[in-house]
Amino acid sequence: MIANSGRNIGAGFTQMLAQAVEQTDDAVMITRADGIIEYVNPGFERITGYLATDVVGRNPGFLRSGMHPPTFYSEIWRTISRGEPFRSVFTNRRHNGELYFEEKTISPIHGNDGAISHFVATGKDVTERISAERRLEYMANYDALTGLPNRSLLHDRLSQAIQRAHRTGKSVAVQFVDLDRFKLINDTLGHNIGDRLLIEAATRLRHCLRATDTVARLGGDEFILIQEDVGHPDVVEQVAHKILDAFATRFPVGSHSLFVSVSIGLALYPEDAVGPDELLMRADLAMYRAKEAGRNSFRFFEPDMDANAMRTLTLEVAIRGALENHEFALVYQPIIDTRTHRPIAVEALLRWHSPDHGTVPPDHFIPLLEENGLIVPVARWALREALREVHAMQKAGQPELRLAFNLSSRQFRHVGLLQDITAALDEADFPPHLLELELTESALMDNPEASAAVLESLRARGIRVAVDDFGTGYSSLAYLLRFPVRTLKIDRSFVHGMEHSREAATIVRAIASLATSLGLEMVGEGVENLAQLALLQELGCYQIQGFLFSRPVPASELATRLPN
Ligand code: C2E
Ligand code: CA
Ligand code: CA
Repeated sequence: MIANSGRNIGAGFTQMLAQAVEQTDDAVMITRADGIIEYVNPGFERITGYLATDVVGRNPGFLRSGMHPPTFYSEIWRTISRGEPFRSVFTNRRHNGELYFEEKTISPIHGNDGAISHFVATGKDVTERISAERRLEYMANYDALTGLPNRSLLHDRLSQAIQRAHRTGKSVAVQFVDLDRFKLINDTLGHNIGDRLLIEAATRLRHCLRATDTVARLGGDEFILIQEDVGHPDVVEQVAHKILDAFATRFPVGSHSLFVSVSIGLALYPEDAVGPDELLMRADLAMYRAKEAGRNSFRFFEPDMDANAMRTLTLEVAIRGALENHEFALVYQPIIDTRTHRPIAVEALLRWHSPDHGTVPPDHFIPLLEENGLIVPVARWALREALREVHAMQKAGQPELRLAFNLSSRQFRHVGLLQDITAALDEADFPPHLLELELTESALMDNPEASAAVLESLRARGIRVAVDDFGTGYSSLAYLLRFPVRTLKIDRSFVHGMEHSREAATIVRAIASLATSLGLEMVGEGVENLAQLALLQELGCYQIQGFLFSRPVPASELATRLPN
């Protein structure tokens, strides 16, 4: 059987060869030219789980796993019938049904007449190695949490899609999908709930697309959808609507029923970008615009969005020197008690007069200050300035006038906060009970435990806290009201909405009755006309702030407006 080309093999040597085959760790199988098994070694028995007595006389087809296409086997036959060896990694099935990977070589054995008399297959079990390789490959390309393609595979797919689009003349659309306020859910309900929500979100997104399109996870709560063969932007818009709809129903996660909306930015190749990176960047920009516009919506990329991003960049540079160059100033807007017609407080609002950019609105520059950390020194200056100016107003005949001062979330989390405030109060000789710090719901809910501790120390020092823009955040009222806060400032979107929308009116009514029952004070913000004023008063809200009474003005101007 073990024939050769002219070499003389003695009986002792033949026996040694037989022992080698018997004792090698690898699987050895010898079949006749027609494929019927004549011999398998103990290595084969060990790896496959089949005994020699079970398999001799059979065709090796029982090892097939069904994982290779039929062409794989015809290719084997073609190769070995030509007299050449065939090498490959086989996915086979053991006797117990388990799949395993076998690195196998099948070689023809030629008889003395030169014809193929047998085949010998030698194989190694490489299951561990291949599984590890596949796991690594999977990890390199897929997101472990959701099973979606990750950033790296997304990049490959997008590049391929763009190449195909180049040939077909159709467009590729990218939808940049970002969950609204996901961080809050993660921080308040824990990562476990957050993770499960992401998995559910991934499933809903996948259902919004055709099977041939790609949904990938960029990381965090950001997902990317790639649509190919787009003939008209309408198709893309339809999918965006479908996504918004898919997120309109609550997510049951554990014992929670969560509502999360999404903001979507859309960009098209070749219309908006020359390559995959630019396409993603522009969809990202459009997504930010959707967020700014109030979330739960989508935006197509437009060229002037880039211009805005450029503007932000130059602002970022300009704002670095703004504090030293004395470009910041404060204006004040009174809060009036309509029962006494007297101002009970003034809210300090920051202004930046940039020599290059003119007067920049706080909504534009405060996020920049937050990002580069300058918010801390700027706010330190602003608080001192405001305390000084309001102290002067108190001296000039408004002894109980309160200062309402805004704190951004970064300031609120700054470790030196209490020390800074105490020092500033002492220095200005300002009564702590006349300082009210305004914090948004999201600043408070960012890290509820830490917030509770800081709020408690503020309360201990007699400093008041108001919840700003109340009603716009995600937080549950019950949760929020465990914090020691004194005042709710009803967001101006409700005040404006109340006139026309029953829902807004109902919300304000609910807030008002809650505030009353909890003994909280309430301020209606952004009151511009008498109709809004009347509605608020009807609901028991008598503290009013808005253009109806006064726009924010410099201290010098305000002094002349305050009644004595
Ligand atoms: P905010 O705390 O909600 O301040 C009230 C905003 O509403 C002010 O905008 C004010 O000018 C505007 N407003 C007042 N009455 C009316 C009205 O009747 N109608 C309308 N449409 N708007 C009215 P402003 O000054 O542009 O400030 C915007 C936001 O910037 C503030 O919102 C606040 O969140 C932030 N901000 C302002 N100054 C500071 C500051 O010193 N520190 C921090 N951290 N944030 C500040
Ligand atoms: Ca405020
Ligand atoms: Ca506000």
